Amino acid sequence: MKVYKFGGASVKDAAGVKNLAAIVGQSDGKLFVIVSAMGKTTNALERLLDLFYDGRCKEALDMMQEIVSYHNAIIEELWGQAYLPDRAARLYMELEEIVATMNPALRDYEVWYDRIVSYGELLSTTIVSEYLNATGLSNIWIDMRECFVTNSRHKDANVDLERSAERLKALISATDSDIYIGQGFIGATEDGATTTIGREGSDYSAAVAGHILDAESVTIWKDVRGILNGDPKRFDDVVDIPQMNYIDAIELAYSGAQIIHPKTIKPLQNKNIPLHVRCFLDSSLPGSVIKGGVGKIRTTPIMIVKPSQVLLTIRANDLSFMLEERFARIFALLDEFMVKVNLIQSSAVNLDLCIDRTRHLDELTARLKEEGYHTVYNSDMELLTIRNYTAEQLKAYESMPEVYLTQRTRRTLQIVRRSTPKQ
Ligand code: ASP
Ligand code: MG
Repeated sequence: MKVYKFGGASVKDAAGVKNLAAIVGQSDGKLFVIVSAMGKTTNALERLLDLFYDGRCKEALDMMQEIVSYHNAIIEELWGQAYLPDRAARLYMELEEIVATMNPALRDYEVWYDRIVSYGELLSTTIVSEYLNATGLSNIWIDMRECFVTNSRHKDANVDLERSAERLKALISATDSDIYIGQGFIGATEDGATTTIGREGSDYSAAVAGHILDAESVTIWKDVRGILNGDPKRFDDVVDIPQMNYIDAIELAYSGAQIIHPKTIKPLQNKNIPLHVRCFLDSSLPGSVIKGGVGKIRTTPIMIVKPSQVLLTIRANDLSFMLEERFARIFALLDEFMVKVNLIQSSAVNLDLCIDRTRHLDELTARLKEEGYHTVYNSDMELLTIRNYTAEQLKAYESMPEVYLTQRTRRTLQIVRRSTPKQ
């Protein structure tokens, strides 16, 4: 069995779905295909949810209509006529019903998020599966909510590998097909509540499927020619990295490299399954591979930008020192509000945290205030990480304007600064 993963950009329009069909058609042996939501659908669904939460219901309903029309247009172009697969119609109805019954209490934000945002993947896989069937690539559509069992940490759920393995293996052995199509990004709790596993999580879904099915390889099809040492939209002179070991890949992904989701590597490394990154625009290119037995990258600088950051500074009102027991309490609060911390720096009385932007920031700072802390924060920040930085880069970046915080180890330079488009 091989696992393929197609991200949103690869299925953003009818031509993309046809291209996916061509790539799937060329592969031999059994294939498990994980597909993300089409194009920017996840962003659109997130906006829909936020509009509801902000009480802008009319705009939210317009947004929903836009999402439906976008998918319908792709279907029509694929089939060359007006057509609506039964399951797509059912999914539209379900989504409408969820939206109609929604009760936007802040406490349940993550639960509604998962209920709504998961429709991106449910719709994309429905369209892809039906289209493949229509073109002779017979396949089985899988509802990954019936296979991937997760905990109930909504919007950022963890997959229970053992429970999921039982279910996925049972499903595969009870069916007979060369091609399976399943959603990335989604799962469900033991009780059947829909969950999502974090933005860009479809890579992780593919890795988990690969792990469970003992795949010979996992391939992520992207719009880039392989792994590069920086985002070409942000940096000049980027170079290819044809192969990489698992540890370098984890570090890179964790620092925010868009190429793969940070959680992706572990399930593959555990079973020594190679991860290929290939270009769906030109499947003749070799791409890059992450696998065991490859040396560490020691000289090529690798540049990663993590956007949508907040720099939060916390200080005790009585100026007491930032010691272990205070850290423990503060981090317990961060965990309670599901805040993702990407960088930590502390001094005698200050704790500086670079965190992912969150809707819970006001609640968090209010709670910190109650507990005797003073907080200040800057939004619109980004975190730049350079591994294997050069002396010139060090000089250039440290003296850049709008840098709020710098942290440096022997190999890695990290800078929190105000977001800028391109240097
Ligand atoms: N559709 C989800 C997202 O855009 C998951 C993914 O694409 O991996 O974040
Ligand atoms: Mg994506």
